[in-house]
Amino acid sequence: MKIVQKYGGSSLANAERVRRVANRIKTDAENNQMLVVVSAQGKTTDALTTLYRELSNTFPSRESDALLIAGEQASAALLAAALREIGCDAISLNGMQIPVQVYGESGDGRIGRIDIARIRKEWNQGRIVVITGFQGINEAGDFITLGRGGSDTSAIALAAAVKADRCMIFTDVDGVYSADPRKIPSAVRFNSIHEDTMLNLALHGAKVLHPRAAALAKQYGVPTEILTSFSVYEGTVISSDAPRQTGVTMCNKADQLSMITIVFKDHPSGDLLAVIWDTLCNSCFSLRFGADILQALIPNEIAEDLLQQIHGVLYSKK
Ligand code: ADP
Ligand code: ASP
Ligand code: MG
Repeated sequence: MKIVQKYGGSSLANAERVRRVANRIKTDAENNQMLVVVSAQGKTTDALTTLYRELSNTFPSRESDALLIAGEQASAALLAAALREIGCDAISLNGMQIPVQVYGESGDGRIGRIDIARIRKEWNQGRIVVITGFQGINEAGDFITLGRGGSDTSAIALAAAVKADRCMIFTDVDGVYSADPRKIPSAVRFNSIHEDTMLNLALHGAKVLHPRAAALAKQYGVPTEILTSFSVYEGTVISSDAPRQTGVTMCNKADQLSMITIVFKDHPSGDLLAVIWDTLCNSCFSLRFGADILQALIPNEIAEDLLQQIHGVLYSKK
């Protein structure tokens, strides 16, 4: 089997976690061709951004991208080294070495084309290939990053390019939930989720998968799963056969405002809409309903409380 695995920053935050990830990869790589995509460790991208802003106001720019790609470069080299330590033949490669061709502006690149010849060559020699996420090169040969959270997009695009049998996105939660489980402890984990629901949740702020990654997974039919690297629990499978789900997201819209978005699995009943209206009507600035999505713009200070209430309405015990 061809397997792509992506590890986010928290999964690689320190040496112990890198070692744990390496051990997991070693097990999964048995009899499989393995391509691993990595993010920068922990808060490295934030730290590099701060460093840059101390010296320049031109952000994003060619030079900020040249700096930020270093986070993923470090992760890839460290993980490949950790794999070698436990007896796996692994090699780290960056967006220029593959290359991953990207178009668009600094800090907002879109993947155009991926040359898979080098990956094939390394696989033929029995190697595990560790690739930097979040980056590629443009026509001029300069590094361009893909926007915050862009390693997800790298992983799905690489999975599509090599026609992977599985694309496993490892993060710090064990799947996709009905709401951000860090904000709503009673959120429900989905065993599987329709690709359209995933795309809608991602587009409206469910950080667990980057919206461009969700769109690419749908476009190319990439068999994608979201899992945690901190345990062996099953995650959430994303596919066109999976059921549509109801979920709610929240994201900041301006200094003072947040947007709550409800993605309904099917057209909501009049009764349900009435209860949601009762919950929101005294506190929201605007309410928009269309195509099984309802959006409310509300002040930041009551956003978490309303999110909780709305989730309670959607998932009340019957
Ligand atoms: P990574 O660094 O692995 O890419 P992210 O922080 O980008 O991880 O995404 C994972 C986070 O997404 C979780 O910690 C969780 O707080 C958040 N999240 C938001 N909405 C959801 C949701 N509906 N289901 C699961 N996680 C969600
Ligand atoms: N390191 C980048 C970020 O922090 C890309 C990613 O993690 O997906 O946004
Ligand atoms: Mg992310």
